[in-house]
Order: sequence, then C-alpha cells, then structure tokens
Amino acid sequence: MSILYFWGMCAMGLMEARQNRSGRILKTALEDNMKFISKMLVAGAAAAVLMSGTAFAADKGVVGIAMPTKSSARWISDGNSMVKQFEEAGYETDLQYAEDDIPNQLAQIENMITKGANVLVIAAIDGTTLSNVLENAAASDIKVIAYDRLIRDSGNVDYYATFDNFKVGVQQASSLVSGLKERFGDGPYNVELFGGSPDDNNAYFFYDGAMSVLQPLIDDGTIVIQSGQMGMDTVGTLRWDGAVAQARMDNLLSAHYTDKEVHGVLSPYDGLSIGILSSLKGVGYGSGDTKMPIVTGQDAEVPSVKSILAGEQYSTVFKDTRELARVTVGMVDALLGGSEPEINDTKTYNNGVKVVPSYLLEPVSVDASNWEEILIGSGYYTADQVK
Ligand code: BGC
Repeated sequence: MSILYFWGMCAMGLMEARQNRSGRILKTALEDNMKFISKMLVAGAAAAVLMSGTAFAADKGVVGIAMPTKSSARWISDGNSMVKQFEEAGYETDLQYAEDDIPNQLAQIENMITKGANVLVIAAIDGTTLSNVLENAAASDIKVIAYDRLIRDSGNVDYYATFDNFKVGVQQASSLVSGLKERFGDGPYNVELFGGSPDDNNAYFFYDGAMSVLQPLIDDGTIVIQSGQMGMDTVGTLRWDGAVAQARMDNLLSAHYTDKEVHGVLSPYDGLSIGILSSLKGVGYGSGDTKMPIVTGQDAEVPSVKSILAGEQYSTVFKDTRELARVTVGMVDALLGGSEPEINDTKTYNNGVKVVPSYLLEPVSVDASNWEEILIGSGYYTADQVK
C-alpha cells in the first residue's frame, strides 16, 4: 500500500514535470527538474511515514515481547494483537516465541536487552526463572511488564497485566457444578480434578478459585473424588501439556472407573480438555447410553469451541486477548511517557519479593448458551471459523 502510494506520487511528479517542460516556456528546465526532485523527496517522506509501522523504526521506542509458545492459539492472538496495537501507537516491536523451552526464552530476552529494547513484555514459561535476566534489564534501565503470568522472585517487575485469575477458577467450577446438575440430576457426582502447570503462578489461582466452589461440595458429599487425587502437587500438568492430561485421564479411568461412571472433570485449559475428552471417548463416554461427563476449559480456542458446539466439551472461559494487549500498550505508554499506568489491584499478586501493581481484566464463562453472543458478537471469531 505504502509502496504503491510512493510510486504513484513519483509518477504524478513526472507527468507534471513533462507538461511544464513543453507548455510553460517561461520556466527553465533546471527549475522544472528541481521541482520534480523535491516532489519525489516529499513523496518519499510521505511513504516513509506511512511505512513507519512496519519496516521503518518507529520513534516511541522498541518493545520486546516474549511469548511462551505458538502451540496454543491464545498466545498467537496475544502476540498479533500486541504487535498491531503497539505499532499503531508508534512503537517498534520484537516478538519472540520460545516454544516452551526455558533457556530459549532466557536467550530471547537477553537478546532483546542487548539490542536496546526500551521495555519488555513477558509471558513467562516458568515464572521463577527470570530473576537474573531481569537484573540485566534493570541495569540497562529497561521497564518490565509481566504479561498474563506473574513473574516471581524478582523485584525488577514493574507492572502486571492479566485477568482475574481466581475468578477464572470460580467460573470453571461454577460451570462444572451447573453442568452436573443439568446432565446428571442431583448427585452425588464423581468428579476428577486437573490443574495447570506447577511452574505457572496462574495455575494456583485457577485451582484455588475452583476449589473455593468445589471444596464445600466435596465436604458435604455432593462431589466425590473417586481417585482421592487433590492438590496442585498431585493434579498439576507440567507445561499445560494435553498429552500428559490424556495419559493421566487414561490412568484414572482404568484405576478407578471400571465399575463406576465419571460425571465431571475440572480442566483448567482447553488444550488439556481436548486430551481428557479423547481419553473419555476412547472408553465409550458420549456414545450409546454413556453420557459425556461435564468437562470445563479455558481460552475459547477454536477446537474447543467446535467441541462445545458438538456437545462434547461443556464450557470454556473466554479471555479477550485484544483487551489484554490494549491494557499492556496503555501501561507501556504511561511508563515511557513518565506517568502512572492505570491499575486496579495492588494487593493480590505478591511475587515473593514485592506486590506487583496489576490490572485485572474480567474473564467470561462461555458454553453452548452464549458462545455466539460472546465470541462472534465481540468480533473475536467469525462464525465460519468455529463452525
Ligand atoms: C493462561 C491461560 C492458558 C494457560 C496455558 C495460563 O497462564 O493464563 O490462559 O490457558 O496458561 O497456556
């Protein structure tokens, strides 16, 4: 677009220069040529301004964006939304994905520091491994924003942009409980619990939020955990790996459910839910008389939205990554412009060294009853993408 504009301007300049040469005898060829050259320069400058969001360095500074992995669509949306919004706001971006490899992420961040980033936006793979690299960032006076996941054990984290992670867990468990009632009547219900990655601070918030709803029902016997497996140290799923969740579900089914039915599974992330559902389908759930258990999720990833529409996964939690990008760009703009970023929480996220001032966005529970309004209505997906 910008290049077309550039050549269009040049062509217009050339045409005018020729007309002048033949028609206006009072002017010298030299004057005409000078005019032509200056028009080209103006056109070139205009094109450079138009291209500044992409190939040319923008003037507000460089933002290093370190994302954990491309294996989950949500992080791709996060990266794309941030690049778009930062560039629109006049920043240059350096977006890197580390494919869930910790040394890789550390090297990427080191590289951003060396290349002179003004600010780092980091969604950590393991929130406890960044202390040294953030020392280097602080020594170069680089601001740091923890993105979605809290960075732990470091004083060099300036702000935290995320969702209300405890509430995500509450929404997952509330949806599980209402699904159990709807599909299986009054209970008691056999339920199994899955947690997120133990090196991700969020995983504990999701689990604790969910248990704030489930524990009273476990205590009064409405929910029975047949395996007895509870607590993040037992039910956590390293690196949020769907294959690990599927293997654990296989084991739970063969060890505890050969003569019983499982009614519900608390799953904290769509990628785990897909693995859990394959395991359940593998032993006949969801076909014949055996109803599919209620399985929750998070992120509203396309395969899970399709699964909800097919009556398999029961629910997910939508976290609008465009909004998280917006909050993050606002924080960076304020930080580099010398004002205070907007925050709405100064108590919840103690990273072991300090309470990191945070902005928490609202998650939204999504199931077959509201997916269209929430996911299509907001323009996050088109209907074609999920059907
Ligand atoms: C994010 C979730 C995501 C999970 C796995 C968490 O830190 O908050 O949205 O499902 O990581 O990628």
